Amino acid sequence: MHDPFLEDIKAMQELIDVLPVAVFVKDANSRFLLMNKACEEQWGVDFAELRGNDAAKFFPADQMECFLAKDKAVFSGGTLVDFEEVFRSASLGQDRIGHTFKKPIYDASGAPRYLIGVMVDITERKLAEEKLQLAALVYENSSEAMMVTDGDNRVIAINPAFTHTTGYTLEDVFGKQPSLLNSGRQDAAFYQSMLQAIKTTGHWQGEIWNRRKNGEVYAEWQSINTIFNADGSVHRHVALFSDITQKKRSEELIWKQANFDTLTGLPNRRMFHDRMAQEMKKSARADLPLALMFIDLDHFKEVNDTLGHDQGDVLLIEAARRITECVRDSDTVARLGGDEFAVILPVLEDSGSADRVAQKIIDKLARSFLLEQESVFVTASIGITFYPDDSTEIETLLKNADQAMYVAKNAGRNRFSYFTYALQEAAQLRMRLTSDLRSALEDNQFRVYYQPIVEMATGEIHKAEALIRWQHPQRGMVSPVQFIPLAEESGLINQIGDWVFHETARQVKHWRAIHAPLFQISVNKSPVQFRQNALEGESSWLAHLASLSLHGQSISVEITEGLLLNAEGDVKERLFALRDAGVQVSIDDFGTGYSSLAYLKKFDIDYLKIDQSFVSNLENDTDDLALCEAIIVMAHKLGLKVIAEGVETEAQRDILARAGCDYAQGFLFSKALPPDEFEQLLATTRLGR
Ligand code: C2E
Ligand code: MG
Ligand code: MG
Repeated sequence: MHDPFLEDIKAMQELIDVLPVAVFVKDANSRFLLMNKACEEQWGVDFAELRGNDAAKFFPADQMECFLAKDKAVFSGGTLVDFEEVFRSASLGQDRIGHTFKKPIYDASGAPRYLIGVMVDITERKLAEEKLQLAALVYENSSEAMMVTDGDNRVIAINPAFTHTTGYTLEDVFGKQPSLLNSGRQDAAFYQSMLQAIKTTGHWQGEIWNRRKNGEVYAEWQSINTIFNADGSVHRHVALFSDITQKKRSEELIWKQANFDTLTGLPNRRMFHDRMAQEMKKSARADLPLALMFIDLDHFKEVNDTLGHDQGDVLLIEAARRITECVRDSDTVARLGGDEFAVILPVLEDSGSADRVAQKIIDKLARSFLLEQESVFVTASIGITFYPDDSTEIETLLKNADQAMYVAKNAGRNRFSYFTYALQEAAQLRMRLTSDLRSALEDNQFRVYYQPIVEMATGEIHKAEALIRWQHPQRGMVSPVQFIPLAEESGLINQIGDWVFHETARQVKHWRAIHAPLFQISVNKSPVQFRQNALEGESSWLAHLASLSLHGQSISVEITEGLLLNAEGDVKERLFALRDAGVQVSIDDFGTGYSSLAYLKKFDIDYLKIDQSFVSNLENDTDDLALCEAIIVMAHKLGLKVIAEGVETEAQRDILARAGCDYAQGFLFSKALPPDEFEQLLATTRLGR
């Protein structure tokens, strides 16, 4: 049928094929009558195939439904409509979005005749819009502050986070340079290199200190990117930054806590190691020695125990201050823990200056400390070693200084001592002896010797002290003075002490049977032994005595004053457990330590053993005589008996007897003897029964 309308459009086929939008014409039944090239391309169909065919073959069912419904509405509405639609055809790989225009054409009678359609593919635009929307959303809601500047580096946009972080609104900053935020913390060179980086790479990122509107300086992590124009000129700079002040603060705190002592503010052991390594390098470069000092406060523990830890802390802070006063700013003072400090004197022009610094520290620390209105005195012992002469290894230098410090302590404290090779040899010997000690018990190398304790009034032997001897396979007899401290350090003293006790118990049973039923032997018990599992030590000893049907009184335990003074936890209960079983307790080496009479009463002690250092001077030192007399009088007042140790001469014995001393022990009577010799001695001596 001739149709002028359709003919007209067909005549324009060439024109409509050039259009970049899809154009189609349908009849009243929604059958395609005409389609341009763009339409074929965009829909992925071939009009030659589509024409005269059922359109449902080319479009999915739901799509067909949409088409038809829309067409129907357009015909009944009578006007041009435009709408966006998702568009899919059987051959298209993905959905497209179209902006479609449809207009109905009616015949003279007003019946629907044609439908003209135009569709613009807006898929790309839609995607771009979505991206933009997303970007805007991120921009608006990001917790990261953003700032955009133009080619002249003037601010043109900021996001809410920017205002939140800096306090500036867009009004404040619009058209201004970002340098408005500068804090002045970074120098011109910093900004120079930043600008240089942006100029050459378009990019920069790093940490920067800026200033908020309220004047507060804060740290931020910033990254700057550049958007270029086609000609390579700068279009925009985009800066992103986040406030890292809090993070930096906590990092700083963690660093401080890890490297500094919280009490004194001095570098701690860890920092000290770092400094040591640095300063050794520095000194090596300068080709000058470095001095390392270990400082240990003498009797600090007593301050802590008597005045409390709070006051101990006050003293430590003050001691740290005094030590720091004695050194140059370039020297390091560190607190290694407890009452132990270290000083590094690097690059020493004159190694004698270590000497002077040490003496200065000793003098300063010897001055009184005012604690709770009380003047307290502590002194210091210092060990000094030199890099590189004594060693080039940190660990060895530490050991050296420590050894030298102990020499100062043993030499009477309140002094300094240098590391020497003799010290090193002694330390090596100690190490070897300690390792030999481990097998000594198993290999049956120990002996117990017995030294008589003589009753002054009668000259009778009622008591003896058990003293351990070590028959070393290569070194011969090793003195307990040498190996007991090693056994204490290594903990071996527990097994060794138990062994001595068992030997002694066996021996006292024998001598009680053949000589005197009330015979008593004292064993020395180290403070370390009081630290092993509570009460177990005592109860196993008591059980052992019971198993031998021995009364507790057959044994007495010698302890030192230090144990009472530093009595931690259950020492008192443990001593009372012994006392309750009849085991008596002596204070050994009395007078060399703290010598608190109050403690003697508190712990219900039975005997005082006056240290041999007082006894040996009795004849020519009136002070020592007075001291011995005073000890004896006071001990008696407290209900304790007194044993004098180290009595070597008759004159000493007589003086002590006159002073009222109860018992004496010493070479004058006999040295410590092996059991068989001791038994002979007993046989020749009159025994009180
Ligand atoms: P201590 O308990 O004060 O023992 C007295 C020390 O003085 C003994 O030395 C003894 O031989 C010595 N001595 C006795 N009379 C005289 C004298 O007239 N003049 C002189 N100059 N010295 C005299 P020893 O046997 O060498 O023991 C030294 C220290 O080793 C003991 O001092 C004690 O503290 C410790 N010790 C010995 N055996 C043991 C043990 O089985 N266990 C523990 N924990 N320590 C022990
Ligand atoms: Mg003793
Ligand atoms: Mg003693």
